[in-house]
Amino acid sequence: MLLKDRVAIVTGGAGINGLGFATARMLAAHGANVVILDLAGANPAGAAAELGPQHLGVVADVTNKEQCDAAAQAALARFGRIDILFANAGITQPRKTLDITAADYDAVLDVSLRGTLLMSQAVLPAMREQRSGSIICTSSVSAQRGGGILGGPHYSAAKAGVLGLMRAMAREFGPDGIRVNAITPGLIATDIIKGKLTEERKGEIANDIPLARLGRADDIAGAVVFLGSDLSAYCTGVTLDVNGGMLI
Ligand code: NAD
Repeated sequence: MLLKDRVAIVTGGAGINGLGFATARMLAAHGANVVILDLAGANPAGAAAELGPQHLGVVADVTNKEQCDAAAQAALARFGRIDILFANAGITQPRKTLDITAADYDAVLDVSLRGTLLMSQAVLPAMREQRSGSIICTSSVSAQRGGGILGGPHYSAAKAGVLGLMRAMAREFGPDGIRVNAITPGLIATDIIKGKLTEERKGEIANDIPLARLGRADDIAGAVVFLGSDLSAYCTGVTLDVNGGMLI
């Protein structure tokens, strides 16, 4: 199996309809032991149990350094190594530039950008010791288009920042055998868009996408399995667009 005996941490992985859980499920299907990390209210232990008894659920807030470090330690205590980090946790807020408050800005950048840095810092020492590892950061088409369909400019900024962080870490840790890449999802039908778009609006958006549909969570999961596995052994610093051709 592609990921047999590999250990993968998925942040923001407990939402059953989210990109994280779909990815956790696909990583497990390819043989990985999965650590689902999420906020307490999202019940990561329950989500991990859905995947099977060998998987682990950990409560942590990715904006909190101590909790990130404790989550990585819990993964190491249980499985002895960490091969893959899918830094997926993120929040969005529909806002116009002039409406963004300092608190809005902090909330959105803290989860996507600070959370990606803190979780990377938590797993990198173990990966460096192993001389192998794959970190997959979650950006967004919003970073590339300069405007989100749902997220505000601060969300675009956070997701663009994730790309800069990803490239810098790829350069820094390549010599240690650690690869760092990012995915830029287009519009994927998950809870993050639930109730925010009418069916008519979704149809209009799909009409503008060459593959003529919104994305599915498994479209992202497949990209993460690729970047997490040895199939992508010579890829680092890559931004993988998973958007149905939205930017062509
Ligand atoms: P979602 O809202 O379904 O899932 C996000 C998960 O992150 C939730 O389980 C939530 O509990 C968790 N989370 C939020 N704050 C957290 C924190 N501080 N610590 C730990 N976990 C936290 O969203 P989704 O659609 O599955 O999106 C997943 C990622 O993909 C996000 O980073 C999002 O910005 C990005 N993305 C999504 C889309 C899309 O169209 N769905 C497009 C581009 C990028």
